Amino acid sequence: MAGKNEVKKALKHIVVEKILYDEPMARHTSLAVGGNADALIFIENEDQLAQVVKRLIEKKIKFFPAGNLTNVIVRDGGYRGAILLMTGMKEIRCEHTPENGGLLSAEAGSGLAKIVNLSVAEELTGFEFCSGIPGTIGGAVWMNAGAYGREMRDIIESVTVLDADGIRKMMKKEEISFSYRKTSLPAGTIITKARFKLDRGERWRIKEKMNEILQWRQEKHPLEFPSAGSIFKNIPGQAAGKMIEEMGLKGITAGGAQISLKHANFIVNRGKATAADILALIELVQFRAQKEKGVTLETEVVIIGEN
Ligand SMILES: Cc1cc2nc3c(=O)[nH]c(=O)nc-3n(C[C@H](O)[C@H](O)[C@H](O)COP(=O)(O)OP(=O)(O)OC[C@H]3O[C@@H](n4cnc5c(N)ncnc54)[C@H](O)[C@@H]3O)c2cc1C
Repeated sequence: MAGKNEVKKALKHIVVEKILYDEPMARHTSLAVGGNADALIFIENEDQLAQVVKRLIEKKIKFFPAGNLTNVIVRDGGYRGAILLMTGMKEIRCEHTPENGGLLSAEAGSGLAKIVNLSVAEELTGFEFCSGIPGTIGGAVWMNAGAYGREMRDIIESVTVLDADGIRKMMKKEEISFSYRKTSLPAGTIITKARFKLDRGERWRIKEKMNEILQWRQEKHPLEFPSAGSIFKNIPGQAAGKMIEEMGLKGITAGGAQISLKHANFIVNRGKATAADILALIELVQFRAQKEKGVTLETEVVIIGEN
């Protein structure tokens, strides 16, 4: 089993500007919960990532790539191994193409908000649905993030990855299958970059769409509390939030966690929640959905770490 000393030994000869050992993940997850990771490594560029991953694989130390940690619950027992924070890899390039569009390429740690704003400035349409999603490109591609009837697969052209053996490769969109909040990229794959094909649009229209979506989020989502967005995946023909509301679970609390009064598919941290509080609410909802509706509700959030 890994521990901070194993990670330290493994990375002894590699230059990494910032590593935090025994780092409370509650400081980094959007839900503000989670125990200590043995190591939280701040990745700055692709070469550094490749070296770190090679050493971790050689030393059989578990690792987990992360963007803004806006869709992750780390259990209270923390994470044994290294969490690779990709937010230092944030180069974005944009080129206009003669056939009335543009290609935008962004490193995995690039923030979606920055990209949405850039596409407004460049008069390129396609990224508006990401308005208000607080993640990074890597997380959004991995999850096939979506909103407002659109998802990442609609605009992806290619994805560059380090595969599970640490080999760099570029994959065309056609080589990956995308489904609801999921891609076919194998476990252990790290996305380093993605390229998107966008259309030329009028700035005011792009901005209008973006503002419409931001306003919708403001009205519907409990943005005043820490959360991880939607906790459960919808099931065909039925929104998970509506089902949770129908079962009378809106507003229910466990410790400092609460099923949001504003949107029942959000669990919010009212101040002092632990991961265990949040997981207790998740289990309650899953139990009741199975018992009362005969439905298995799958989580959209990714749950890692030790109890
Ligand atoms: C208020 C709020 C609103 C939200 N609204 C939406 C929404 O409308 N639609 C939606 O889809 N999501 C939504 N989310 C969830 C989340 O923001 C998205 O899923 C986002 O795309 C996750 O990005 P991230 O960088 O935070 O990923 P993380 O949470 O850090 O990671 C999520 C998953 O992606 C993997 N991952 C991250 N980076 C990489 C990488 N470089 N290579 C390989 N795997 C990687 C992680 O291992 C993990 O499995 C919302 C969250 C919040 C808090």
